[in-house]
Amino acid sequence: MEPVVVVDQTLCTGCTACIDVCIPKVLYIDDFSGLCRVRHQEKCDKIGECLKVCKPGAIKINR
Ligand code: SF4
Ligand code: SF4
Repeated sequence: MEPVVVVDQTLCTGCTACIDVCIPKVLYIDDFSGLCRVRHQEKCDKIGECLKVCKPGAIKINR
């Protein structure tokens, strides 16, 4: 399955803004890197609240 949501690790600053708005908890901060990662792709609602708050534009949603 093609990933639904993708976070560009080279653009993410680890600001956590997307984590706060991701109600299904698809996005999380990786303890080691301190950057946003994706889990449970199938739970992504594709509404895209995360896109609105990610200032560096690190998140992409495949529709
Ligand atoms: S689109 Fe919604 S559910 Fe999917 S990662 Fe973004 S905030 Fe989370
Ligand atoms: S909002 Fe963007 S920059 Fe901030 S943690 Fe999420 S993906 Fe990274």
